Order: sequence, then C-alpha cells, then structure tokens
Amino acid sequence: MTKYVYDFAEGNKDLKDLLGGKGANLAEMTNLGLPVPPGFTITSEACQAYLATGDEPAELAAEVDEHLIALEKTMGKQLGDPSDPLLVSVRSGAKFSMPGMMETVLNIGLNDTSVLGLAQQAGNDRFAWDSYRRLIQMFGKTVLGIEGELFEHALDEMKADKGTASKPANDLDLDAADLKKLVDVYKVIVRDHTGEDFPQDPREQMRKATRAVFESWNSDRAILYRRQERIPTDLGTAVNICSMVFGNLGMDSGTGVAFTRDPGSGARGVYGDYLQNAQGEDVVSGIRNTLALQDLEKLDKKSYQQLMEIMATLEGHYRDLCDIEFTIERGKLWMLQTRVGKRTAAAAFRIAIQLVDEGVIELDEAVQRVNGTQLVRLMFPQFDTSGNPQLIGKGMSASPGAAVGKAVFDSYTAVKWSRSGEKVILVRRETNPDDLNGMIAAQGILTSRGGKTSHAAVVARGMGKTCVCGADELDVNTKRRFLKAPGGIEVHEGDVISIDGSSGAVYLGEVPVADSPVVDYFEGKLEARDTTDELVEAVHRLMTHADTARRLRVRANADTVEDAERARRFGAEGIGLCRTEHMFLGERREHVERLILAEGDDERESALNALLPLQRWDFLQILTAMDGLPVTIRLLDPPLHEFLPDITELSVRVALAESRGEKNENDLRLMQAVHKLHEQNPMLGLRGVRLGLVVPGLFALQVRAIAEAAAQLIKLGKDPKPEIMIPLVGSVQELEIIRHDSERVLREVATHSGVDLPTMIGTMIELPRAALTADQIAEAAEFFSFGTNDLTQTTWGFSRDDVEAAFFSTYLELGIFGISPFETLDIDGVGELVKIGIQKGRATRPNLKVGVCGEHGGDPESVHFFHEVGLDYVSCSPFRVPVARLEAARAAVASEGSDSR
Ligand code: ADP
Ligand code: MG
Ligand code: MG
Repeated sequence: MTKYVYDFAEGNKDLKDLLGGKGANLAEMTNLGLPVPPGFTITSEACQAYLATGDEPAELAAEVDEHLIALEKTMGKQLGDPSDPLLVSVRSGAKFSMPGMMETVLNIGLNDTSVLGLAQQAGNDRFAWDSYRRLIQMFGKTVLGIEGELFEHALDEMKADKGTASKPANDLDLDAADLKKLVDVYKVIVRDHTGEDFPQDPREQMRKATRAVFESWNSDRAILYRRQERIPTDLGTAVNICSMVFGNLGMDSGTGVAFTRDPGSGARGVYGDYLQNAQGEDVVSGIRNTLALQDLEKLDKKSYQQLMEIMATLEGHYRDLCDIEFTIERGKLWMLQTRVGKRTAAAAFRIAIQLVDEGVIELDEAVQRVNGTQLVRLMFPQFDTSGNPQLIGKGMSASPGAAVGKAVFDSYTAVKWSRSGEKVILVRRETNPDDLNGMIAAQGILTSRGGKTSHAAVVARGMGKTCVCGADELDVNTKRRFLKAPGGIEVHEGDVISIDGSSGAVYLGEVPVADSPVVDYFEGKLEARDTTDELVEAVHRLMTHADTARRLRVRANADTVEDAERARRFGAEGIGLCRTEHMFLGERREHVERLILAEGDDERESALNALLPLQRWDFLQILTAMDGLPVTIRLLDPPLHEFLPDITELSVRVALAESRGEKNENDLRLMQAVHKLHEQNPMLGLRGVRLGLVVPGLFALQVRAIAEAAAQLIKLGKDPKPEIMIPLVGSVQELEIIRHDSERVLREVATHSGVDLPTMIGTMIELPRAALTADQIAEAAEFFSFGTNDLTQTTWGFSRDDVEAAFFSTYLELGIFGISPFETLDIDGVGELVKIGIQKGRATRPNLKVGVCGEHGGDPESVHFFHEVGLDYVSCSPFRVPVARLEAARAAVASEGSDSR
C-alpha cells in the first residue's frame, strides 16, 4: 500500500520528489534536533492521485487522521477544542518553488468558539482575534478564490478609522475589539462571494485547504511557469501540515528571515530581517518597517544566540548558503523553513571558492555550484550604480546587458533616430513582428507586458540585445509617446533611460556603464588593474580547475584575426569554424562579380587568379594568429547572389543610365545574373558544396590559398594546422568529388613548395540526409562538424530569420517549445540526428574527429548533451568560450559522479 503521509521525523532532505522542498527540509531539520514545530507532510503522490481522479485516494483520509491524532497527542491539544485548540498551518511545497502555486494558510482550527478558548489560554484577546481574521483572509483568498484586495481594503478602512492624518495607524494600533469587528466584516465578504458561510469545522478547513493546494498545481500560472522552466507536469505538490507557533503574541514574539551569509557577496555574517509581534508574511510584505536581524540580539539575546548556532549548524550540514524562516513565540525560537539559498551570480562564484577555502567542499564540487548562465551574467558590461540612480521600475531580466538611450515609443522613430546617430531604447507595451526593425535599431528594448517568452524577450535574446520585459508598474502610452512610472514620474520621447537586462531594473537618466572585470581578466588586462578582486580570483580558480576537469575541447568560431586572438585569450583550443564569405566582400566584390559573369575559362581564370593572393593573405594571418592550434576553414557557403549588387539598386542604376541614353554593358550582364541567381528559398538553394560543384575552380582556389599559406608558414618554422571543411554536404558523392579535387591541389602545392601538408578534409553535418548517411560520408571525411544552426532549420523545416519573429513566442506560450531550438539544442529531434551521425560516422571511421559549430556550442544545456554523446569538441563564439569551458567541466564532473554510483 502506498504511504501518503510522512511525519516530519520520517523524512529527509533527499526526498524532495516525494515531500517537496519544504517538507524534505523540515524533516531534515527535525532530524537534526532543531526546534521545528511538529507536523507531517502529505506526499506529492497523493496530489498526483487526486489530480488523476479528481478525488483524494481512498486511504488518504484515514492516514491523515492517524497522523493528526498523533500530532494532537504530541501537542497535548486537539484541533477544534473550544477551550484550548490546536492550530495548524497548511503549506504547499513542491519540488521546485513555483509562482502560481497556492500559498500557505495559517491558523487553521480557529472558529467562533475556539477563538475564545485561544484568547483565554494565551491571556491575550487581541492575539486570538488577529489570528482569526488572518485565517479568514488567507482562507478566503487562496482556498475560496476571493479577490484578496477586498480583505485588504476592509483592513485599510479599519486602520484609517483609527489613525489621523498626521499619524496614520498601523496594524498594531488595532485592538481586540477592532479585530473582532474585522472578523465580522470578513465573514460577510466570504458569504457575499461564495454564498456560504466561512467553514467552522476545523477538519473541513484543513481538507479544503489541502485540496486547494493540490488543485493549484494546475492553475494557469503554474502550468505556464512549468512550461517555460521545463519542469515536468506530473510531479505534483506536497502539502505540509505544521502545528502553529505564534509570532503575534506580543512584543516578546516575532517572525523573521535570514541568510547564513550575504547572498550578494557571500561574506559571512548576520543577514536578515525581523519583525516584532507579527506573523507569517508580514516580514516581507512591508506592512511595517522591519528591524535588522542584529537588533534581535538586544531584544532577545537567548533566542538570537540560539539562532546563530542553528545557522552555523545548517551551513555545516548543507555545506552551502542557506536561507531560513523562523518565528519567536514568547522568547522561544522555532524554525519554520530552510533551503539552500538563492544568490547573485557574483556571490555564487565567491561562495563556491570560500567553501573550498573553508575546507567544506572540493574544487570538483565547487565547479558544480556555479554555472555558465551565471558566468555570462558576469561578463556583460554592468551599470555602475554607486551614484544611486533613480530606479523607476523593475521588469523581468529577459536578455542581459546594460543599455542606455533615449526613450522612443515606436519602431519608426527608433529607426529614424538611430540613423541620425542617436542611441535609443525602444519602449512598447509589448512588441510584435512589425517592431523588428525598431528592435534592431535600438540599444535595448523595454516592455511593460509579457514574460520571458514574450515576443520582445525571444527576439531580443536571439539578437543578443538587452531587454527588460513585463515592467508592469510602468504605464506605457505609445499614442502619446510617454510612460508613467510610480511616484508621478513621466518619461517622454527623447528622455534618456537606462535598462539593465540582467536584473530587470529601469533607471531614469544615464547610468554609467562599467566593463566587466571578469572580461578584463579573460582578456589578460587585469595586471594593470586590481588583481586582488575576490570575484576575479574566484573565477580564475574555478576556470583553472574546470580546464583540468573537462573532457570536451573548446574551440571558437572566428573569421578574423581579431576574433581569433580574442578567442585564444579566452581559452579556445583552436578555431572550429572560420567562415570565408567575408573574404569575398568589400573591394573584392569586383573579382567575385567577374567570376560569376565569366563566360569562358580565360575570364574565370583571370578572376580566380586575382582572388588567390588575397585569400592566401587572409589565411596567412589567421593561421599565424592560431599557430599550433587547429583552424577549421569552411569553404564558401552562402548563395552567390549575396555577392551581387542589390536588385533594386541595380535596376535604378540601369534605368537612370537608359534615361540618359547610356548603356552600361556590365550592369546589364549583372542584371541578368541577378535574375538568374534569384532564389525563392536561398537557404535551401544554390549554396555550400553545391556552389563548389557548379562554379568551376572556386573551391580549388580556396584550397590552394590555404595550402600555399600553410606551406609558407611551415617554411618560416611555424606550425599551421588548417582543416578544410566542406559545407552543406548531403551525399558522399558530393564530398568525394570535392575531396578528389582538393587532394590534387594539396599535392600540387606540396610538390611545388617541397613541404609536407598533412591537411585534414572533412565536412559539416547540417542536413538530415547527411546525418542519416553518415556512415557513407565518413568514407570521405576525416572529421565531422555538426552545423546545428542549419541542422535545426533543416530538421524543423523553417528558416530562423523568417520565423523567429513571426511565431516563436506563440510556440513558447503554447508549450510546443520549452525554449527556442536555436538557443538550446532540440535534443529529442536534432539531438537524435546528432547521435545517429556520430554513431554511423564512427562505425566507418573509429578515429573520426567530431565537433559542433553553431551557437549551441556555447549553450550550457547543449554542452552537457554534447559531452554525453561523446563529441571531441564544441566551437562557439569567442565570448562564449569560457562558458563552454565551465559547462564542459560541470558535465564531466556530473557524469563521473553518476558513473561511480
Ligand atoms: P512560502 O512557501 O511562501 O515561504 P510558507 O509555507 O513558508 O510559505 O509560509 C510562509 C510563512 O508563514 C512562514 O515563513 C512562516 O512565517 C509562516 N508559517 C508557516 N507555517 C507556520 C506555523 N506552523 N507557525 C507559524 N508560522 C508559520
Ligand atoms: Mg516560506
Ligand atoms: Mg550552415
């Protein structure tokens, strides 16, 4: 028989799936001998059963009864006893904390008679009525679904009656009689809105609250949140029934929250807030000003010292920063919650190293305590807020970065102003596909509606642009081009604002931006600066360890010498993707045009000959910058028309010439070529290896330039390691022809220069057909590099540029995507093709070198997948290289851990 109820003493912290985070940690604290009010947890399995059938499992009621009776015995009080009632709280607690889930109901067990008993037992009428009104308020809101504002409004009116204009009343000014009156008002609200009286039966209160917790698992908000965060939908939530302790019994009582170290810096010390004569959420709700936790020492030395000891115990036990919730009832301390605490990115790195230095954890574990997302956050430029800029709102951190600019309220203005050199922030209620140009033109994007999967957030992340979304205190009026912030502040078109995409903060005016010290460290610029920076040192030590712990190699995508050098400084062990298309632009267009227009071998030869020395020079530079490290050079990939003039411009030129009675032969031929090369779907058109096969001599030219550059460097005593990569191969035959040709060129250059050129030739795997026939393709390829951007496009059958702005936010909201497949690899679909490709490729050629190039190479979750499927390396943008290094190490440590288990 399934056991649905666990006493706090029966659980432990590893049972989060079953008991939820709160229940598991309450059990852990109970077993550590800490003062936790007794209680029990109804498992998430009971919730699953309830949600599946719409009813509690048959055994549940009896089991709850049994535990309740045991609890009553322990406490020496009974639920609903009119003279001395036991009260309990009903607290939700899933494995992951989740907005949209039902909150806690306190003081269950009070009714019109037991409230009198409670008052008498405590010798405190005010306390009893305060507890009763809280019960009706919380129960009404969370269990009965009554608008919370109705209760708050009634409370405010009561306070207004008590106070004067010069001295407004706070909740402590309400006496027992006021609170008793408030209870009556609350009961009327309940009856008016549900047609029924507030339930007087304590067991019914408990059962209804429990059901409400179960049902809140499927609230719209909880469902949406789970989709976005990819939390499984079938976990369910546990429910904790916990005997009440009271912080609202007078000034010798109170409630508080605390951290075992500073969640901002990681520094050890006393961090927290305390509120006297208060209950539950009062301390965070801002009803009265809280005291700093240190002040508790003066109020109640004994409890304070005990709290300090308990915090040390918890830190030692969890081996990490913990946050806690506690209550003091007439001088007696009670622990109500703990968990490993949230922290800022900087604190995560500092704390991990502090714990290593304190001998609490090893470096392997320290690397697990931080992650690539946090590292990215540290690498963005940050606002220097030491001048206390004026915060006017806060939204969601949708896409990191610090952006400053003049507020504009429509895309047209954004584009116009940015063309004339202004920096702008595009402010919208929400964005839609028509805003794309404005978003591109802006430094950053601010919206007042929508979450992390809104159009603005998705597109901004795709563009790497700073974005704060859903800043809902800002009232954006796009018609009249201004926004209203709390406190009567208005921002009009042209006023400067600053938005922080990492924290979600919106500031009035220009906030200075400071470069990230972590980037300076990676850049090797820190010698000149303060090298004793604790954060930088933590990053340094963790990254150094990561490099020894990881198996995956990390390369960078870099096309220029500057990028290559930066990648090297950031720790890249080679270039995984050196694109060559930019080498055909600018002044070289003219030769490319000639190549495309060439009508005979002579014309073609002459165009190719003009390009050869230029290409050779490009490769000389890159190979020199990466001396000793592999450089994977991808032969020309994009459709040819990208190298030709824009059709409209050209037409105008031709028409103007005609109107002057002139005729430019070359332009006319270009026109023809442009028309001939026009494609409906260039992404699926004449590009990649297809170009190499259709345009004679093009790939041979590139291979020759690579070979000659390498030969020249070898003669100079250098160690160039070029690898030739053929894009968009779908069949081995394509590759064989190019390979054959390339080998001939390599031989020619080797013979001519008299140096050995052991150059590898490989291919990108970026078409489903390539993955599916990887066994054949491996016959002709010495390495594979998965081009996961194109592979995602070709697997899903959509082009990123066309569809991202159009429907990705809808797909995210509908839960079709958990996250954009261009951000994190679609493991079920595209990942399957990657697995097939590796397995088939290595079956043919066991020592096949396999990597990935594409943005996924720097995405934390994708890196873990690439580690698991046995890639040799990932390649990503230079800026992402440290992230990949760190995540590769985390993946290696994690899989070692699971191997040994
Ligand atoms: P949350 O998940 O929002 O933190 P909790 O279940 O922790 O909700 O409850 C919120 C607060 O209510 C707690 O921090 C604590 O102050 C108070 N509370 C909960 N249960 C009890 C109890 N049995 N006795 C006294 N206070 C309680
Ligand atoms: Mg809590
Ligand atoms: Mg590609």
